[in-house]
Amino acid sequence: MSPQNHRAPSKLLWPVVVGVAYFIAAALALWLSRSVSGAATIWPASGILLSGLLLRPAERWDGILLASAIASLSANFAFGSSLSVSAGFTFANIVEAMVAATIVRRSSGKDLAFDRPHGVGHFAVACLCASSVSAFLASLLSGDWSGGFTSSWFLTVLLGQLILTPLVMTSAQALRRLRLPRDYRRIAETIALLALVAVVSAVAFWQTHYPLLFLPVLPLLLATYRLGPVGATLSVFTIAVFGSLATSRVTTLFGASWPVQDLVLFFQFYLAALLVAALPLAAALAARDDFVGVLKRQQAYFEMASRTSSIGYWRLTLADSSLEWSEEVYRIHGLPIGEPPLLEDAVNAYHPDDRPLVEAKLDEALQTKGQFAFDARIITSFGELRHINSRGQVEFGDNGEAVALFGIFQDVSDRVRLVEDLRAARVMAEAEARHARELAETDQLTGIPNRRKTMAVLETEIEACRTKGTMLTIGLLDVDRFKSINDSFGHVVGDLVLQDVALACDKAIRTSDFLGRIGGEEFLVLLPGADTAAAGPIAERIRLAVIRDTAAGEVPEVTVSIGLAQFNATMRTSQLLQTADEALYDAKRGGRNRVEIASPC
Ligand code: GH3
Ligand code: MG
Ligand code: MG
Repeated sequence: MSPQNHRAPSKLLWPVVVGVAYFIAAALALWLSRSVSGAATIWPASGILLSGLLLRPAERWDGILLASAIASLSANFAFGSSLSVSAGFTFANIVEAMVAATIVRRSSGKDLAFDRPHGVGHFAVACLCASSVSAFLASLLSGDWSGGFTSSWFLTVLLGQLILTPLVMTSAQALRRLRLPRDYRRIAETIALLALVAVVSAVAFWQTHYPLLFLPVLPLLLATYRLGPVGATLSVFTIAVFGSLATSRVTTLFGASWPVQDLVLFFQFYLAALLVAALPLAAALAARDDFVGVLKRQQAYFEMASRTSSIGYWRLTLADSSLEWSEEVYRIHGLPIGEPPLLEDAVNAYHPDDRPLVEAKLDEALQTKGQFAFDARIITSFGELRHINSRGQVEFGDNGEAVALFGIFQDVSDRVRLVEDLRAARVMAEAEARHARELAETDQLTGIPNRRKTMAVLETEIEACRTKGTMLTIGLLDVDRFKSINDSFGHVVGDLVLQDVALACDKAIRTSDFLGRIGGEEFLVLLPGADTAAAGPIAERIRLAVIRDTAAGEVPEVTVSIGLAQFNATMRTSQLLQTADEALYDAKRGGRNRVEIASPC
């Protein structure tokens, strides 16, 4: 099947449907009007043609207009108008439909919405313009400039468009949206309300004793309120049908002896007034429903966001101290969502230690009329401690007086826990690093600083001497004939001796001095601030302490030899150590168990 063949049925369908509907509507109106001396109440064909145009794109209008023109010509001719008059009327109706459709398209675009106040406004203006043009053309072409003809034409066309077009279009939209069986309640309600309008209209129009024209307004408003634009247009249409039947069949509407033409004119204004009242109301209600829908959606999004981020809000009205909580605030407190708590209970939910802070922050905000922010703990209804952050501001009334406090309320327990965990992890990592560093700088056997640490401290002390010009004497200490200890008592005892020697030396030096083990049985003593004169007695004290302490213990008594050397600014570290080593060598050579002082270089 070619694409053209495929499109052919839909191309013809609309013109045929609109044309047939046009003919039926025109014939019906002409038939009714003939029985009341040629005065039609409304010209529904105009509304049907306008609906057909508005429901289709502009490039498809030609077929619809042609079909409607044929229908119009046939109907007018069939009901007794001459061919030329029928052609004139047809021309007026076709032009009027094009004028209305073009204005609506220009002002409202493709989507004419009868549930939008501005849509209704644009539509009404378009109908007024089109009816005026139509009445002018009809009078011009028929040569009938009598006020009765022109105004009657204007009103019948205007009402035809005003009533039928919204009726067709809102019904088409409602049918498109209809989902069965989900909407069966709505259909039942629509039928029931229209039946009510029909019954009330029948009562109001068929009886002739009382002026009951106000009665149909009540079910019309009810249908408008419940069903929106569809309810409004269907109801007005129903009232129009019953009213038309009444004005054509029963020639008196109130039992008044009005001429029929006046009755028809009165009824046209009546219908126009109903529509002008109901459609904007329907549009306003629909706009309100949309707004409520948007608000509900936004509220749902807000709740979702609020829940995800654990952020709620609270509001304290100052006049009566009443409190308002968002749902998330209840959840954070571990309370069921319901009646807001008393202010006192809300304050008591804070940890006793934090209450003064909270009260002070809020008081300050009230006094300065500024903002507040605080971190505090609350105790939930389950007895769980939670950390919250609240920040907000004072709300002012129209006269500038403080009327409320508004604050957001966030559960930051997870964040606080994370920060605490991170802090604990950092403390532990630092302790481990410190321990590792100490291990790396400590001699395992004696527990005093090892060679690496000792050399680093020596460098630091020498640097201090250079910058500050202070004095430093070092003592190189070696255990005498230690090999024989090992040989005689074994390595284990040798180790114990080294431990005792280290302990004895450590006790003998000043707190400002430094002792480290730099080799097997060699130790280095740093004596900051001391020249060799001052260092001599200290070294002697060390030597005697070693003898005394080893003799007192269970290990073999040992002696040490010490070589002292004083730093001077021209020396490098290695030179200082070598000088001390030479002094130690002298002490060994001199018989051991003695202190030897290197002569200044
Ligand atoms: P001198 O008086 O000339 O210093 O004689 P010495 O025997 O002390 O000298 P030498 O340097 O020959 O011997 C040092 C000995 O120290 C050799 C080694 O077995 C021993 N030694 C080194 N480190 C340790 C240690 O950690 N534990 C034990 N038990 N012995 C050690
Ligand atoms: Mg040695
Ligand atoms: Mg030795």
